[in-house]
Amino acid sequence: MLNIFELQKELVAAALPSGLETRQAEVIKKHASRYCDEVYTDAVGNLICHIKGPGKKLMLVAHMDVIGFMVNYIDERGFVRFVPVGGVRPALSVGCPVVFENGVYGCVQPDEKAKIGTASLNKAEMHNMYIDIGAKDKTEAEKLVSVGMCATFCAQPMLVAGGNMMTPYADNLTSCAALLSAMSDIRYPVNDLYCVFSVQEEVGCRGAKMAANAIKPYMGIAVDLTLTGDSPAELDKERMAVKLGAGPAVKIRDSSAICDKPVVEHLRACAEREGIAYQDEVLLAGGTDTSAMQRSYEGVLSGCVSIPGRNIHSPGEIINLSDAENAAKLLMHAAMTEI
Ligand SMILES: [Zn+2]
Repeated sequence: MLNIFELQKELVAAALPSGLETRQAEVIKKHASRYCDEVYTDAVGNLICHIKGPGKKLMLVAHMDVIGFMVNYIDERGFVRFVPVGGVRPALSVGCPVVFENGVYGCVQPDEKAKIGTASLNKAEMHNMYIDIGAKDKTEAEKLVSVGMCATFCAQPMLVAGGNMMTPYADNLTSCAALLSAMSDIRYPVNDLYCVFSVQEEVGCRGAKMAANAIKPYMGIAVDLTLTGDSPAELDKERMAVKLGAGPAVKIRDSSAICDKPVVEHLRACAEREGIAYQDEVLLAGGTDTSAMQRSYEGVLSGCVSIPGRNIHSPGEIINLSDAENAAKLLMHAAMTEI
């Protein structure tokens, strides 16, 4: 079992948004190479770790891309306009410090038209937000950042109350850490295992589909975050049964996939046999690489182990560390049990 909190710190320091995942891929590769027979990267950047076994092909996937901000225009006064990469939530981004891929810092701010704090705040109003990098004018700003350059939330993972971790990018770097931890405990695999760290999930589950098309697995299990119904932010909206600290969730459905019964049963059976507490998940909004695998190749039996998370897609996502550790355990046993 690897230390999820330490891995999270290492991964957050390397994180770049969808399409630019090479930095976090390097960190993951450094750890993963110790636990598998071969590691390779495909054309789009998916990191594929093969642990050879005699049985059917089982693909485990955690997306390693994160949401962020891409520069699309720098105005005359040196303020940086951006487009979101993935599901950036405007209300949760205002006031947040960010760091560009070259190390330049800035802060997300609303302009007067953005109506921050009102119910009308939505994705469209992202056009009325900007990043202040402190530049005195356009010329100075253009020396520091350029169109197409990306930024991420600038915050550190921290331990908070309740055995929880507060961090940017629990979605999905904590799942990457959990998958690495599972890999580190796999001995004598019965299934032919492909552990994939996929690219571009946050912009439409693109990487996992390409990886699954190439691998042609019999079964696929994703690991990702899911929402909870246990905070004021979500209570009225989602009415979700999942909560923090009650164990990893076995996905039954989300808005883009109805998980295949053999996978749900495989995960439940492994959890019950090993005494791992788990929750059943029906997610009303949002999808994961589960659907990408399911629709790949000739169709792949697909499911997902979810780590419950609050404040998702903000710099202060909160997950329970024992949920993440138990997700790693469940993945390890699911990988080690014949499919
Ligand atoms: Zn995710």
